[in-house]
Amino acid sequence: MKVLIYDIKRFAIHDGPGIRTTIFFKGCPLGCWWCHNPESRKDEIEHTKKINRLDSKSFTVETQTGEYRSVGNLMTEIRKEKVFMDESGGGVTLSGGEPFLYYEFVEELLDVLKLENIHTAIDTTGYASEKIFSQVAPKTDLFLYDLKYMDDDLHLKFTGVSNKLILKNLEYLHNKQIPVIIRYPLIPGINDDDNILQMKNYLLNKCPEFKEIHILPYHNIAAHKYLQFGVENKMQHQPEPSKKQINDVRIVFEDAGFKVKIGG
Ligand code: SF4
Repeated sequence: MKVLIYDIKRFAIHDGPGIRTTIFFKGCPLGCWWCHNPESRKDEIEHTKKINRLDSKSFTVETQTGEYRSVGNLMTEIRKEKVFMDESGGGVTLSGGEPFLYYEFVEELLDVLKLENIHTAIDTTGYASEKIFSQVAPKTDLFLYDLKYMDDDLHLKFTGVSNKLILKNLEYLHNKQIPVIIRYPLIPGINDDDNILQMKNYLLNKCPEFKEIHILPYHNIAAHKYLQFGVENKMQHQPEPSKKQINDVRIVFEDAGFKVKIGG
């Protein structure tokens, strides 16, 4: 079996503990307005053109995004970094897009990684059927789990899907005592109002063992990628959060007993 991968990041230090190899699956069932990886959204190979400038000259560079890869092919890449993973307490992170789109492949890859004693993390939206989620999750050492909006109508508006399944799957992980780090994208004017207290209260009530949260401040460095991939950019004029605002959110969670990190 082969699936569509759009990037492999080596020596990653923001996608879980230690030094990691992060595999990016191409395709995502969500359509977050603030997505900074628009190239991850379509589950198909994309050919695009980009203009690079050097001094006064312009060059058009054609690029292909996405390549079909097998578990064996990925393991060849991963094994090259194993010594760094072992020394740093790192491992492999499956990211995207949404890895659960390719759950059969992900299961196969997790099985091989476990056999080779490599720590695994899945960076996920949590948007997968309960059946698929409960089939794959116990094979994973750690989840990096996005929590974007507690209000279901607003979640639907800004991401294109309901949050019901996402919350159910998060509670499943809590019940099964599978380690989770929450990831909260902080988008000014979108999900930085009552949502923060609602998230805090939800976590304290429903998932009290999950005590680490990473705040991911919105940044607009992906604007050029929206043009390149022909994706509508609904947040062209969106401001980034100030240092004060980021710190205020940090304090809300720290005061409630969370370990907080800014960034991934
Ligand atoms: S879940 Fe992630 S990859 Fe998918 S649209 Fe949202 S931000 Fe982009």
